[in-house]
Amino acid sequence: MDTFEALVIRRDEATKAQSVAVETLSAADLMDGDVDVQVGYSTVNYKDGLAITGKAPVVRRFPMIPGIDFAGTVSASTYPDFKPGDQVILNGWGLGETHLGAYSKMARVKGDWLIRLPKGFSGKDAMALGTAGYTAMLAVLALERHGAAPARGPVVVTGASGGVGSVAVALLAGLGYTVEAVTGRVNEADYLKDLGASAVVERGELTAAPRLLAKERWAAGIDAVGGTVLANLLSMTSAEGAIAACGNAAGMELNTSVAPFILRGVSLLGINSVYAPKALRVEAWNRLARDIDRGKLARMSAKIGFDDIVAAATDIVAGKVRGRLVVEIG
Ligand code: NDP
Repeated sequence: MDTFEALVIRRDEATKAQSVAVETLSAADLMDGDVDVQVGYSTVNYKDGLAITGKAPVVRRFPMIPGIDFAGTVSASTYPDFKPGDQVILNGWGLGETHLGAYSKMARVKGDWLIRLPKGFSGKDAMALGTAGYTAMLAVLALERHGAAPARGPVVVTGASGGVGSVAVALLAGLGYTVEAVTGRVNEADYLKDLGASAVVERGELTAAPRLLAKERWAAGIDAVGGTVLANLLSMTSAEGAIAACGNAAGMELNTSVAPFILRGVSLLGINSVYAPKALRVEAWNRLARDIDRGKLARMSAKIGFDDIVAAATDIVAGKVRGRLVVEIG
């Protein structure tokens, strides 16, 4: 591939204003790496929305090709584990933040960052899950390690209509949990029940200032939003329960008290998908391949084209995207 198209974010260093446009690049424009990948599919995650709109300092180097995850085919490799034709996926490791990312027909990356496409998945399936689905699985694994089990009581998922939330609801329901889905979009109740939610909770129930301890409501939870919602979840988590916190759609701050931790033994489990070690990545992707209901995955994801990325980025930051967006790149 002599030249190829990529979405590029540039920044005017004088005004700090950023612009986004499709550009024609050549391999010489790419950063160092030992594997070249012909990108087949990517996705639009919340972080991609922040990067493209410039609403948060996700991009650490300009110019930048955004896009934090992809599935594709190796076209050249000097890395011993991969050869041309291999099907691979990549998420995190600074892709689309510090290293030129996925919204490009060609990517050059470190072989250490790649994992093989899990058996039984197409590249499109893998990106229907993408970073959001993989993060939901990391959260499920963290809760399991903490001792979560369906018999311990209902569990809660916040930001439920979004990407992480939709996959988390489907995964937990499939594993036998009674799942309560918290959403600001109660008009999506049928969608959430179809994914396996047994009840839908209006987000407004969790946006007032939290009490030190409230009635014990959930044995465990996955929180994609942070802020006051997370503070309320902690005050409502049952004794010895845990909340896996992975997101900040409602804000970065967390104003809480130590009461849930010292009086109920509640645990707050942090999830960082970007630099998870390879063994955990492989475990999470293999569990996704085993546990995700393919019918639900198809119903929660929509395919968009390369030209739709910028509009989708604006929509996801505005909380308007339901489920997952897969981008057909190749
Ligand atoms: P989405 O935009 O798809 O989902 C976020 C959801 O949060 C929305 O759909 C909405 O759900 C809810 N929401 C939006 N705005 C607010 C608000 N102001 N207050 C409360 N809830 C709100 O994003 P993703 O699923 O891709 O990502 C979710 C979060 O997880 C993001 O913050 C993202 O940055 C983070 N993340 C973190 C990772 C990590 O490594 N820790 C990896 C991947 C994602 P509803 O309408 O149902 O209420």
